[in-house]
Amino acid sequence: MSFSGVRTEVAPRARLRDLFATARRAALDALYPPTCLACRAATGAHGGLCPACWRAMRFIERPFCDRLGTPFEQDLGEGLLSPQAIADPPVFRRARAVARFEDGPARRLVHRLKYSDRGDLAQPLGAWMARAGADVLADADAVVPVPLHPLRLWKRRFNQAAALAQAVAKVGGKPFEARWLMRVKATRSQVGLTREQRAVNMQGAFRVAPGAPISGLRIVLVDDVLTSGATANAAARALLRAGAADVDLVVLARVVTGA
Ligand SMILES: [Zn+2]
Repeated sequence: MSFSGVRTEVAPRARLRDLFATARRAALDALYPPTCLACRAATGAHGGLCPACWRAMRFIERPFCDRLGTPFEQDLGEGLLSPQAIADPPVFRRARAVARFEDGPARRLVHRLKYSDRGDLAQPLGAWMARAGADVLADADAVVPVPLHPLRLWKRRFNQAAALAQAVAKVGGKPFEARWLMRVKATRSQVGLTREQRAVNMQGAFRVAPGAPISGLRIVLVDDVLTSGATANAAARALLRAGAADVDLVVLARVVTGA
């Protein structure tokens, strides 16, 4: 039979490939044993959390405010907005986040990503973000990171938002555009500022790169954390002024107040 002939010809090669892949993985695991992304305890597989961190992680799930992505206590139906979203609507259209930032391992993940030069964290975290933001990504034309000011980037050598955005774009199958949005103002730290002060501090901080073809496009902005929304609003405003049709936001973690 010709079919079985084909099968016996191909199968050993495929099996050999699998064997090599398994051996390679085993060798890598021996060199770099899998650890929890948040607390570095030993785990069974790469790119995940240990059981304790998994339980402590405050994942944001539906039902949530369609606009702000903040969780609701009760499910009152699809497309509902929180009082906060109605009273003080953000510049961006919709925000989606993997988890709450205030407590639990999310804060540690953000901190590790930002300060320990751990680019390899971005891939698994970006995959979570793509899942949390699946509905906004489905409508998107491009994924754009919230940029750092060149001076800050030079000092830190790593923009965590760009690393996350690249992973989100890859998983979501959308173009990653790191050069469309620029940070033109070296803003002071937002820590300790009031909501109003933060908004003033971020005014004019972003500009769309000359010639960036964003007119009429639906953009997904990516950042690591959403706190007051001042940064995301300023970035979204710059994109909308340059002609973007819509700006949504996907972050790893967000602060949830009054919910
Ligand atoms: Zn852990």
